Amino acid sequence: MTRKRIQTALLRWYASHRRDLPWRRTRDPYAIWVSEAMLQQTQVATVRGYYERWMKRFPDVLTLADSNESDVLHAWQGLGYYSRAKNLRRGAQAIARDYGGALPKTAAELRGLPGIGPYSAGAIASIAYGQSVPLVDGNVVRVLCRLFALRGDPTRAPLKKRLWQIAGDLVPAESPGDFNQALMELGATVCAPRAPRCGACPVRRACRARAGGVENELPELPQRRATVAVIRAAAVVWRKGRVLVVQVPADAPRWGGFWRFPNADVAPDEGAEDAARRVVGARLIDDRPHRVARRQVNPHAPSFGVAGR
Ligand code: SF4
Repeated sequence: MTRKRIQTALLRWYASHRRDLPWRRTRDPYAIWVSEAMLQQTQVATVRGYYERWMKRFPDVLTLADSNESDVLHAWQGLGYYSRAKNLRRGAQAIARDYGGALPKTAAELRGLPGIGPYSAGAIASIAYGQSVPLVDGNVVRVLCRLFALRGDPTRAPLKKRLWQIAGDLVPAESPGDFNQALMELGATVCAPRAPRCGACPVRRACRARAGGVENELPELPQRRATVAVIRAAAVVWRKGRVLVVQVPADAPRWGGFWRFPNADVAPDEGAEDAARRVVGARLIDDRPHRVARRQVNPHAPSFGVAGR
């Protein structure tokens, strides 16, 4: 199968098999940027509702640029990887300041903005502006490693670079946005991580991994680090209808900028209540690392106590 045939087969397949998703009904570069940011590390089914609420709350770049960080984090609450939300806001502020609120049109300019990496730049430039530029995400990595039987670790520089080159060679001048989305869609719905459905694949005749019977061996991703179980205890301190919450410093590695109940890891020889008392005791003696506020308790909220999890 030649390059041209791979392009044609994928575009035809995408035209008849693409899922109808809210962000596919628009060419608004801002909307595409938001959807691509949300879709990183997150399932489509989860993103759908968040995307629709976000676009109502922050319908354009200038609204997002004018927002405060708490509102942005609140709209993102539950999606995880909160740096994505902060980066969207930082990017919107740069676009408002340097481009009058309109996203720049080239992948190179887009990449120069805070929070927009090569993947998002490729997605916005190809889908919104019809530029023939590639993108590589986890789904594309899997499809290309199998299609071309590429061995090696795709998270490391040599193969990473090769994947971007191959994606760049494949992306057509016509309908580059649809082609890029077709690659991602194929990875998401057919060329699955386990048990790819090769019988339903539009490029199966070109697939070297399938020909060699090694589709389940590729890509050669590094072993995931083992999950570390952590038990944290949170203390809920309230008095006269007000509750104690603390704000995590903005530059903290996790939860930066969030308000939360004082909490701490539970030590191996410690109970949850002891840990909660320990963290509250420390807070009352020295609260300098955190901003402390006393908020009005919501009268409809459940009753509070010392909680461990
Ligand atoms: Fe993936 Fe199978 Fe298609 Fe190859 S033939 S690209 S392994 S779904």
